[in-house]
Amino acid sequence: MLIWIKGDKMSSFINRLRQVGEKTGDYFCRHDKLTGLLDRVQLMKDLKRKNRGHHTAVILVDIDHFRLINDSMGHVFGDQLLRAAGHRFRGSVAPGRAYRLGGDEFAAVLTFNNTQQIAKYLDSLQESFKKTFIIGNSKIHVSLSMGVAFYPEDGETLEEVLKHADMALHDAKSSGRNRYALYDRKMEEAVKDRRLVERYLHQALENEEFEVYYQPQLMIETGKISGFEALIRWNSPELGFVSPNRFIGIAEETQLIIPIGEWVLRKACKFIHRLHREGYSDLDISVNVSIVQLLQEGFVQTVLDILKETGLDPHHLELEITETILIDSYESIRSKLDVLRCHGVRIAMDDFGRGYSSLSGLKQLPINTLKIDKLFVDSLLEAEPESSIVDLIIQIGRKMGLSVLAEGVETKRQMEYLMQYQCAKVQGYFFSKPLPQREAERFIATASMAFHARMGLETGKAV
Ligand code: C2E
Ligand code: CA
Ligand code: CA
Repeated sequence: MLIWIKGDKMSSFINRLRQVGEKTGDYFCRHDKLTGLLDRVQLMKDLKRKNRGHHTAVILVDIDHFRLINDSMGHVFGDQLLRAAGHRFRGSVAPGRAYRLGGDEFAAVLTFNNTQQIAKYLDSLQESFKKTFIIGNSKIHVSLSMGVAFYPEDGETLEEVLKHADMALHDAKSSGRNRYALYDRKMEEAVKDRRLVERYLHQALENEEFEVYYQPQLMIETGKISGFEALIRWNSPELGFVSPNRFIGIAEETQLIIPIGEWVLRKACKFIHRLHREGYSDLDISVNVSIVQLLQEGFVQTVLDILKETGLDPHHLELEITETILIDSYESIRSKLDVLRCHGVRIAMDDFGRGYSSLSGLKQLPINTLKIDKLFVDSLLEAEPESSIVDLIIQIGRKMGLSVLAEGVETKRQMEYLMQYQCAKVQGYFFSKPLPQREAERFIATASMAFHARMGLETGKAV
C-alpha cells in the first residue's frame, strides 16, 4: 500500500504515527531502520523502566575505525557493514536486549548473576567479530571497542550508568581499541583531560607551540647514521609539555592531524634538505603519517608539493604508516602509496607486530622498510630470547627484500641479538633519544664514534 501525503501534512502524520506506535508498540517506532535493532529512544525508555532489583550491565559497543572504512569504501558499503554487524551483534546478545544508538554505536543491556558471566559474554562477542565480513566482493575485518558499567555499583540510575559506560568506551578506544574497559572513577579525570587537550590543541599550530625532534637511525653493519625519524613535540603554555601519545589520537579524531602532519612533513623535509646541502647527502628522513591524512583526497599531491617546495630528493623521504584497518584490497591506500613510490618516496610499516599488523598487509602494500615494534625488542631481554619472534620477523623481512629496523633498542644485550639476527638498522635510547634540531645536527658527526664506543668495539672497524 502506498500513501501519498503532502509535505505540510507530513510532520503531523509522523507525529500521529509515533503516538499510535507508542501505544501499540509499533515496530518502526522502536526499531532502527538499517539494522532492525531497537533504537536509542527505546534504550532510554528501557533504562527508565528496568527493574531496579536486578544487577544490570550496560555495554556500549563501537566498531573500530568505522569512519575511516566509511570514508574509504563509500557509504553504501558502510551501511551494508553496519547491517551485517548489527545482525551478528543481535545474535550474540540473546537473552538480553540489543540496540543501535546511531552511527557505528551499539548497546546491550544484560541482567546477570555474577561478573564472570559478563566477562564471558564480552569475550564471546569479540570472538564472534573475528570472523571476516564479506560485503559484495570485498572482505573486511573489523574489531570492537566496548565500555561497560554496572547497576547499581556504577550509578544511582541506569541513565547514569549509561553515561559511565560511555566513559569506559572512550577509555577502551584511547588505550588502543580492540578491547573492553570497565568503568572506573578515574575515567572521569581522563574525560576532563581529553576536553582540556582538545581545547588548546586547536590553537597550537597557529601559536607555533610545536617543535620537531629527530631520533637517529643507525646501520648495524657500519655504525653509521642513516637518517632520522621526525617526532613531534608540543610545549603548551597552558598545559606544559604534552606527549604525542596524549594528543595525537585527539588530533586524529578532530582531523587537526591533517594540518599538523603537513607542518611536520614540511619542517622535516626542509631540515634534511639543508643537511644535504651541507654535505651529509646520504641522510634520510622518516615521517609518521596518520591514516586520517592518508585517506585525504589530496594527500599525494600535498606530499609532492612539499618535496618540490623544499627541494628534497624524494628518495630520501620515508613515510611511516601503521596498519590500522584491514581491507581486503587496500585499494584506496595502495594506489596512493604506489604513486608516491613511483616518485621515489619510500614507505615503512611502523609498529610491525602490534595489533593488526599482518603478513598479508606486507605483501599487498608497497612497503620498503619494516619497523619491528618495541614490544618485541623488549622481549629480547627475557631469559630465552632465542625463541623470540624477532628472529622470525627479520627473516620474513629479508626474504621479502625489505630493510628491517628494530625500534626502542635500549641495551647492549638487545643490540647483540639484533646483530646476530642480522637486523639492518636500529633506533633507540641506547644510542640517542629524539633530539632537538641543533643537537641532532651535532650528533651526525659523532654517531659512528658513539656507536663503537657503546658497543665496546674498536673505532672504524666493521662489525
Ligand atoms: P612511534 O612512531 O612508534 O615513535 C617511536 C616512539 O618511541 C617515540 O615516542 C620515541 O620517542 C619512542 N622511543 C624511541 N626509542 C625509544 C627507546 O629506546 N625506549 C623508549 N621507551 N621509547 C623510545 P614519541 O615521540 O613520544 O611518539 C609517540 C608516538 O606518537 C609515535 O610512535 C607516533 O605514533 C606518534 N607521533 C609522534 N610524532 C608524530 C607525528 O609527527 N605525526 C603522527 N601522525 N604521529 C606522531
Ligand atoms: Ca614511527
Ligand atoms: Ca613505531
